[in-house]
Amino acid sequence: MAEYLASIYGTEKDKVNCSFYFKIGACRHGDRCSRKHVKPTFSQTILCSNIYQNPAHDTNCTMTEDEIQSHFDDFYEDFFTELCKYGEVEEMHVCDNVGDHLIGNVYARFRYEEDAQRAVDNLNQRFYAGRPIYAELSPVTDFREACCRQNENAECTRGGFCNFMHLKEVSRRLKKELFAAQRVYLREQRRSKRDRSEEKNRRGSRRSRRDDRRDSYNDDYRYEH
Ligand SMILES: [Zn+2]
Ligand SMILES: [Zn+2]
Repeated sequence: MAEYLASIYGTEKDKVNCSFYFKIGACRHGDRCSRKHVKPTFSQTILCSNIYQNPAHDTNCTMTEDEIQSHFDDFYEDFFTELCKYGEVEEMHVCDNVGDHLIGNVYARFRYEEDAQRAVDNLNQRFYAGRPIYAELSPVTDFREACCRQNENAECTRGGFCNFMHLKEVSRRLKKELFAAQRVYLREQRRSKRDRSEEKNRRGSRRSRRDDRRDSYNDDYRYEH
């Protein structure tokens, strides 16, 4: 019995737990859902709800496709850089859906659960573009499961109101650059940690130039408290 329940957990057959919340981390019924949304106590994945404001959703938008893409790329870079302060980010996705529960949602999977928790704790005290950030640990583990298959083949008839994720694509080149920069940063951080302990052993706690660089990387910009 326990095995059966485990096998149907979070699927459509599960009459207790909401399959949408389990797979996508958000369900259109929200707190009024007839099935349970079991919030994870530990997770590598975080969700920041309704963060990205796509200018294309404004009916008076006069921006070109290219301008809209670069607006999104700027956002992606900015938010990714912010998340990297809390730990190694393995993936970050932004929803292109327009339903209230998915619009502008940012999901990020960290390598370590404790970094995800730290990100949630810190982000919840912050604002982005003048609005408070709502961050939480998310049950989403597999983004292929969360994404709309039809949309990937440009065949989804529900468009932006689909209840599965339709992801907004960041420019491939930028994505590559950001993840490469993160790798360099992590390597540098590990090295500076090693250097620091060696330095400490040698001559006390004099600050290294690498520490200054790391601190300047951590400097906030465009974020308000
Ligand atoms: Zn639900
Ligand atoms: Zn869809």
